[in-house]
Amino acid sequence: MNIKTEKLFPDAYGIDKAIDLLNAGELVAIPTETVYGLAALALDANAAAGIFAAKERPAFDPLIVHVPRAWHSCAELIAANIFSPSKMGPNQQLVIDSLIRAFWPGPLTIVAPKSEKIPDVITSGLPTVGVRMPDHPVAQVLLQRLGQPLAAPSANRFGRISPTTADHVIDELDGRIAAVLDGGPCDVGVESTIVAVNQDGSLTVLRPGGVSIDALHQALAFELKTTSATAIAIQTNSNGSTPAQAPGMMESHYAPGKTMFLMPPGTSRHLARRDAATIQQLKDAVEKMSPGALKIGYLVPTGSQALHQKAVESALGIPVTVKSLSPKGDMIEAARNLFASLRSLDDDISLSCIIAEPCPDDTGLAFAINDRLKRAAARVP
Ligand code: AMP
Ligand code: MG
Repeated sequence: MNIKTEKLFPDAYGIDKAIDLLNAGELVAIPTETVYGLAALALDANAAAGIFAAKERPAFDPLIVHVPRAWHSCAELIAANIFSPSKMGPNQQLVIDSLIRAFWPGPLTIVAPKSEKIPDVITSGLPTVGVRMPDHPVAQVLLQRLGQPLAAPSANRFGRISPTTADHVIDELDGRIAAVLDGGPCDVGVESTIVAVNQDGSLTVLRPGGVSIDALHQALAFELKTTSATAIAIQTNSNGSTPAQAPGMMESHYAPGKTMFLMPPGTSRHLARRDAATIQQLKDAVEKMSPGALKIGYLVPTGSQALHQKAVESALGIPVTVKSLSPKGDMIEAARNLFASLRSLDDDISLSCIIAEPCPDDTGLAFAINDRLKRAAARVP
């Protein structure tokens, strides 16, 4: 696999070229509001298989199908041969419609019984398909002009940090895909929340993401005029033996090449107070992960980079490069910066390892950020 990867811009030439390439069964990375997606025609099994090859993605990891704005109801998705009506219960369709009204276009993937028209390669042989409507003008122009769905998992090699700019895509997939459409940095910055809508209308959250669990509860309570009728169960682990239900839930994912490990939330604050136990804990961790480290990277969710740097450097006695995801404490900004910050620490060859502090609470977008940090750190021996 060594082809020239063309960088396109979303002008008339770039959009036409991307459409021609996709129609010819080629792979084009496209901007979405979550992360960059590696797109191919979803109904073309050969094109979709190319995604697995380019990403080195295992065949058991199903792809999300992206749809145009016009398909804004369960009935439209059935008419477009995405979902299968014969396998769905009435509550299931009602809840899907509620979710679509509340969150589409946007970072929510809905998993429900698939139509026979969706190739098995897309769903890894599962009887369900994950679908979302991206909220990005470039992705939508392509989908509308193609008039058919695109499969588009994150445009990175399998298990690696997701790309939030076109240059990240080039870093990951140059020479493996026909083109990348540069639509600027992604707005949300973490992948979609994935929910399975079960036969009885209950939901299982398969992956936390850009739509918070609170927002799901609130929207369903409002839409269904009840606070308790629909149970939202949260599944946090995949079952390793069958096709993974949501492989984004695999233990190691979103991972930098460097060793990365997590300290407890608030570590840097304890360091600033010269807390002896915390200083020792950090020193021990660095010594174990990167013996003799001369410089390290340190990722914090919020707060001043300069203050964190002072606290960590004085504790360790070596230089430290700090990335604060949102110095002012805005979780939307923190999610947007997460993967780019991880990638820049990973790419800095002067750093021996990366230490990260999770967000102190697990609410809203912090839940998705902490999920990604835990999986990025899962390589620790
Ligand atoms: P990615 O875009 O690479 O983050 O991957 C897309 C995610 O969607 C994967 O983790 C898939 O497991 C998940 N997904 C896609 N289709 C299904 C499905 N039918 N059931 C459960 N999860 C799915
Ligand atoms: Mg991914």
